[in-house]
Amino acid sequence: MTMNNEIQNIINNQINAELQSFYAYLGMAAYFDEQSLEGFAHWAKKQSEEEHEHAMKFYRHLQERGGSVELKALEPVDTSFNSVVAAFKAALKQEQHITKLIHEMYDKAISRKDYPLQQLLNWFIEEQVEEEDMVQTIIDQLERVGDSGEGILMLDRELKSR
Ligand code: MG
Repeated sequence: MTMNNEIQNIINNQINAELQSFYAYLGMAAYFDEQSLEGFAHWAKKQSEEEHEHAMKFYRHLQERGGSVELKALEPVDTSFNSVVAAFKAALKQEQHITKLIHEMYDKAISRKDYPLQQLLNWFIEEQVEEEDMVQTIIDQLERVGDSGEGILMLDRELKSR
């Protein structure tokens, strides 16, 4: 079975976008590690692993359907931020961008009557709701503690057990 070219291209673009997210969370982890915020660093590394898994889901989908995987270059990412909350705000922006891409893929999967891709994307649509909600919750908590070092250390300890 050969795959529709347009569908193959958008899946390859999404593999790149998920790996770019992997890279962005790794950049956040590097910043937190430098600040000795081990809980935040742990959280960001877990997130980056999840993004790698997302890329692999699309990779497998292509392989299973006789498509060809294309691995495009990644952009450099920030490893330094003005504050902890600034790092999380950048993460939220990244997630919102991914959500938009997933929704655009879904539109395409519907218009091309690509049922297997729709099925795969249903999982991602739900996952993006959870991702955005989780990052927004951490931003809300960080904004509540403000510049309090004690508050930030408390949240850092909380995220260590994730
Ligand atoms: Mg993802």
